[in-house]
Amino acid sequence: MLAPEVESRPWSEQLADDDASYRAQLAYLFDRSTFYREKLAGAGVDSPEAAGGIAEIAGLPLTEKREVKATCTPENPIGAHLCAEQSEIVRIYSTSGTTGAPSYVPLTAGDLDNWVTGSARSYAASGITAGQRIVSTYNAGPFVAGAALASFERIGLTHVPLGTGNTERLMLAVELLRPDAVVLTPSYAAYLVEWAAERNVDLRASSVVRVLVAGEPGGGEPAFRSKLEEGWGAKVTEAMGIGDIGVSLWGECEEQDGMHLGARGFVHAELIDPETGAATEVADGATGELVLTHLQHRAAPLLRFRTRDHVEVRTSACACGRTGPRVRCIGRTDDMLIVRGVNVFPSAIREVVSAFVPDVSGHIVVKPQTPGVKQEPPLPVSVELAADAEGGDALAEAIRNRLREALVVQTRVELVPWGSLRRSEYKSTLVEHS
Ligand SMILES: [Zn+2]
Repeated sequence: MLAPEVESRPWSEQLADDDASYRAQLAYLFDRSTFYREKLAGAGVDSPEAAGGIAEIAGLPLTEKREVKATCTPENPIGAHLCAEQSEIVRIYSTSGTTGAPSYVPLTAGDLDNWVTGSARSYAASGITAGQRIVSTYNAGPFVAGAALASFERIGLTHVPLGTGNTERLMLAVELLRPDAVVLTPSYAAYLVEWAAERNVDLRASSVVRVLVAGEPGGGEPAFRSKLEEGWGAKVTEAMGIGDIGVSLWGECEEQDGMHLGARGFVHAELIDPETGAATEVADGATGELVLTHLQHRAAPLLRFRTRDHVEVRTSACACGRTGPRVRCIGRTDDMLIVRGVNVFPSAIREVVSAFVPDVSGHIVVKPQTPGVKQEPPLPVSVELAADAEGGDALAEAIRNRLREALVVQTRVELVPWGSLRRSEYKSTLVEHS
């Protein structure tokens, strides 16, 4: 552990500490944040005292990204949640934003340092240690993920930044510089397995013993993960952050049973039902949308921010000694479809289909026939066959049955030839609306 005294302290102590940080953060928001002063007053909360402590946090309203964005003006392009003076801000990141203009994420020197501290703990959880070498493949400079790169130096690693888009160069660096680890999106990690197989490059014989994945869900799904581990001959662990709150807030340890909160002390995590917004207890096995609150943030802190990440929680003790709840990301709330009342995540469909490797390639695309979230069964799913697989009705039927059993969803499975679904060197698109 990078900070054993922090990462292994009893969770009850952490929560007591977080309560004090939270109360101070609320006082700061009432003092400096136009956005939250107005928002909380609108909810009948007109002082930090009236808001109470962290145990009462579910009584406060949630924050949606679009609400914050709606307060941006030409005079204040960051938004009314900006609390710091311009002279206090050391960096402004952009979130790539899937829709429309980017959001700007300002940081004070302290905010940035906290980001790097949390991110370093999250990545170090993978088992990588000082003195080892890591190749990164994020074109992250302008984006929030760029801050994660500083965490590699913080761990004491030799960092080789390469970026996306030139696989030959990447593989040459892996061959010549012999890194212990690579960090990439799960989609790119999967792409490289195929890339290597097509060129008779033995990825398993490379120096890489750890593949650290982040940026999209998938790295924690058992079948998808084992496909990556098999292809790389390496251990795969995942990390996850959310641009508006912090980079690599969560990181998985070698037990591979969910991601620990590396940003503990800086961020408080809650679960809600994504449809009603009602708080769900953070209990073992609970699922819901992750809601995060800054505890020590200065530039533009957020309170009860909806991440749109749908997670499953584990609260059992972890053999690594880190305390606190762990999460596994099941999918993005934005990608979620509702088929006759049942929530379906495309990444969960991919996970079920991946169990049919080696008959299938593991690539899928869900093709909803009507716009919007609600869909009528059967839900069309294109499943790509493996390179020399024949396919056939029996396979399609078996996949359809397995999806129905595992996810309680009726699908129409169309088997498509190897190579017909688009590969991504960054993040995969699992849903294509017709
Ligand atoms: Zn652990």
